[in-house]
Amino acid sequence: MPRPIVAYISKSALQHNLQVVRDHLSRASPSPDTAPQVWAVIKANAYGHGIERAVDGLHEADGLAMLDMDEALRCRMAGWRKPILMLEGFFDESDLALCMDHGLTVVVHDPDQIRMLQSLRLPSDSPPLKIFLKLNSGMNRLGFDPEHFQQAHTMLRSMAQDGKIGDIGTMTHFACADEHGGMDAPLAVFRGATSAMDGPVSVSNSAAILASPALMPSQPGRVSWVRPGICLYGGSPFADQEAADFGLLPAMTLSSRIIGVQSLSPGQSVGYGYRFTADRPMRIGVVACGYADGFPRHAPNGTPVSVAGCRTRLIGRVSMDMLTVDLSDLPQAGVGSPVVLWGKEGPSVDEVARASGTIGYELLCAIAQRVRVLNSE
Ligand SMILES: *Cc1c(COP(=O)(O)O)cnc(C)c1O
Repeated sequence: MPRPIVAYISKSALQHNLQVVRDHLSRASPSPDTAPQVWAVIKANAYGHGIERAVDGLHEADGLAMLDMDEALRCRMAGWRKPILMLEGFFDESDLALCMDHGLTVVVHDPDQIRMLQSLRLPSDSPPLKIFLKLNSGMNRLGFDPEHFQQAHTMLRSMAQDGKIGDIGTMTHFACADEHGGMDAPLAVFRGATSAMDGPVSVSNSAAILASPALMPSQPGRVSWVRPGICLYGGSPFADQEAADFGLLPAMTLSSRIIGVQSLSPGQSVGYGYRFTADRPMRIGVVACGYADGFPRHAPNGTPVSVAGCRTRLIGRVSMDMLTVDLSDLPQAGVGSPVVLWGKEGPSVDEVARASGTIGYELLCAIAQRVRVLNSE
């Protein structure tokens, strides 16, 4: 029998969360046909949920966005025919050839990529490459500064005249979309730099969509594309708001079982470093889940865990393959009892992350390869 730890992935939760995004967008749009298109972001193995499962669960998205060429090719192999956006574009000429062959849309964020495009020799029958040109609107990660953006755009346009390039969209990414007013300045920079351009526009991640769907630029004739990631998986992009507050459902439930029980007398301790010491008689459950499964090692005493449908707490240090929980108030729980580390009928991944000083994103992406993944319905 395999170890009892399983990550269950819910297709219906993915579908539901995509619909939550659509509902947000349509409430903010004057008519249904002006609602933005949705790039479902499935980078990092679909935030740990698996590329093929995400392609299936998010099949109603208008496009998929990711970073790795091999993930993009897996999407095509899984039958995805709609657009695919490569968020970091191409890394070398061989990628560029793959992008052409598989009809991938690429982000161009750096002068080197423009040089590679210029030296690209194409067979005359190749369809033109679709591009989103990325503006650095203040985050100072990827993208052209406002001063160099126009020039980059002009260079791409001249290649478009030669038929090498098709649509040229414009995009940016927000550093502080999860903070009140955090989008005002970058959006003004973006509008200033792109107002004279045409083609599609893409600006919003989950935080921007959920905080303020109305900000989506909707210039007439320009298709707007949003880029939700975490919310599709049922995670919250905000430190102070739960995903459930937006009607989102967890797409991943990390579950396991109790595989051992110990009784502690007052003064006895548990696990490495004796981080937890009982001050009264206690029952302790040992759960088959450790940091080698992706559970955060730095989760402190008190991190919520659900056992046999009841909420209890982690105590003692998380070890590689196991962690320990307090069963003192759960006399009905014992070896074999089901445990939910996060997800449906357990704490949210964001609660576990917050307790552990990180964000739900990191925990979802860090699910280890050795964890079995199954469909939950
Ligand atoms: C990851 C990413 C997103 C999605 O972000 P979420 O916060 O998960 O919604 C959107 N755009 C870009 C460029 C990204 O890298």
